Amino acid sequence: MSSIIQLLPDHVANQIAAGEVVQRPASVVKELLENAVDANATDIKLIIKDAGKSLVQVIDNGKGMSVTDARLCFERHATSKIRHAEDLFSLHTKGFRGEALASIAAIAHVEMKTKQEQDELGTQIVIEGSKFVSQESAVLPQGTSFAIKNLFFNIPARRNFLKSDTVEYRHVIDEFQRVALAHSNIHFTFYHNGSEMYNLPVSTLRQRVVNVFSGKTNEKLVPVQEETEIVTIQGFVSKPEFAKKSRGEQFFFVNDRFIKSGYLHHAVMAAYDGILKDGAQPSYFLYLTVPANSIDINIHPTKTEIKFDDESALYAILRASIKHSLGQFNIAPVLDFERDANLDTPYHYKDLEGITPTIQVDRSFNPFSDDKETKSYSSSGSGSASSYKKPAATANWESLYVGLKQEPDLAIESAEISFESEEVTASLFNDGEVEQSVQNVYQIHKKYIVSPIKSGMVIVDQQRAHQRVLYEQFLTNMTVHQASSQQLLFPLELYFSAGEMELIDELKLSLINTGFVFEETNGNHVVISGIPVNVTESEVSIVLEQLLSDLQEGIPENSFSQNDSIAKSMAKSLAVKTGTSLTIKEQENLVNGLFACKDPNVSPFQKPTFITMRVEDIDKKFAI
Ligand code: ADP
Ligand code: MG
Repeated sequence: MSSIIQLLPDHVANQIAAGEVVQRPASVVKELLENAVDANATDIKLIIKDAGKSLVQVIDNGKGMSVTDARLCFERHATSKIRHAEDLFSLHTKGFRGEALASIAAIAHVEMKTKQEQDELGTQIVIEGSKFVSQESAVLPQGTSFAIKNLFFNIPARRNFLKSDTVEYRHVIDEFQRVALAHSNIHFTFYHNGSEMYNLPVSTLRQRVVNVFSGKTNEKLVPVQEETEIVTIQGFVSKPEFAKKSRGEQFFFVNDRFIKSGYLHHAVMAAYDGILKDGAQPSYFLYLTVPANSIDINIHPTKTEIKFDDESALYAILRASIKHSLGQFNIAPVLDFERDANLDTPYHYKDLEGITPTIQVDRSFNPFSDDKETKSYSSSGSGSASSYKKPAATANWESLYVGLKQEPDLAIESAEISFESEEVTASLFNDGEVEQSVQNVYQIHKKYIVSPIKSGMVIVDQQRAHQRVLYEQFLTNMTVHQASSQQLLFPLELYFSAGEMELIDELKLSLINTGFVFEETNGNHVVISGIPVNVTESEVSIVLEQLLSDLQEGIPENSFSQNDSIAKSMAKSLAVKTGTSLTIKEQENLVNGLFACKDPNVSPFQKPTFITMRVEDIDKKFAI
């Protein structure tokens, strides 16, 4: 019988091995960042494009590699970090398997530049799918840069298996945060598609945590410190009143390596026993230092799990030290969960959801939405069109317009606008069940709505009118704190720059009052689980982006002006635009909505919303 077993060529073996090491762009990020840390870098830059699918680049100022090592590092099981099996038990580096670079090179285009301090010239190497394309000397700064392009270019099935950019980007952030949190003595910067997402200067541990998760984090942290023979614990846990619904910011580091441990998590939760609301999750950032020979990190291929020698002792120590810290900071006795409106804990959100709207205008009127018929009539209960007639909430509205000037020549009392015939007016305000015999509104040039009135006719600018209607709705919602939200089936995750996140943090309360429900706002993203009823899911990012750009110059000091700016901006983004055709029902709703407004004459930007033409004026034109 002939022999059929063959040794696989290296590049095939590498491709297969790559599957274990590289699942997604974030795996590359992790390996490269860890290599840079192992190279004793003090400054590490991470640059990615398209969530890492097109580019992951890590530039460090570490010790670099010699010409020989530059080539060798791509070989499988090539490592400078261990020499003997025993070394595994005294490990002080992240890497040790020597397979990351070989795996990455097997499934991507790699450009590496590296130079050691003592060398004149550095080395530049290009590898594509395990094949060396070029190697040259070059003038380079000290350190190493790896650029990994077109991940999985030669394994289309894996490439197709990647998730959306948003999801892949989230994974990259997770890996970045884990490494950055473990090394506050290293300066990290992170760019995505040309924008700076993080810039984390060398700092204390506490400052690093705060820099990674926004300035608000600082006040939430309680320090934990414990030193025993088997473990040294330091780090922070969150005060119970800041606990969240979701398990977001929970980090264990053992010997500066991020790990996951259900067992240790349980120890933390046990320390909070009795002082957390059901299902609430504290944040924690806990750094454990144990003798290298008391752990085995070789247990899991992606190395986030770990085996301790004396787990139960560790459990007891961790639990006791956190309990002690919480007690010492006098937290346990003051757990009444009363909250300052500015400090958002998720408990409050449930109170915001599902409140029956008391607004008197058709808040769900949205000429954009496809299902406008059903939407218009479902959310405001009593039937929207008829509710225009009775603006009973005016008492609340009075306070809203302090300081809003009316231009005298535009100050036509809305009472002056009486529609032509009583019967027709009645059906205008009807829910629409009765077929209308006369059409009272006409849209012209997809821009104006013309309607006969007793004295002549009114011409309404559709865009400005809708801005006015929405503006008053938002302002009312924000002032009377009774916005109702529509809950999203799948929370929306949106990413913003650090500057934008600051703005969002400042605006958060007002946005909540318009009907937004934020499940999470940290680092550079927000998770939105509820949105105002007059906003559709696809409009959310447009609205927020417009808002951020409108408020870039600064947020007004007092809350009235802040609400005013937000309402204006949202009205601007959401209002039906010139050029949109409206159905007759929509035109009617809009005209009715406008004249139910407190200040129908002008748009929120003080532009006239309608003009009237008296019959006499028309007569005059014909008299010539
Ligand atoms: P491991 O990290 O497990 O040793 P890798 O495949 O990640 O395996 O890297 C192989 C070797 O390449 C490392 O042991 C190290 O000597 C060298 N190396 C990788 N990245 C860098 C870097 N950024 N700076 C200096 N040397 C590096
Ligand atoms: Mg490595």
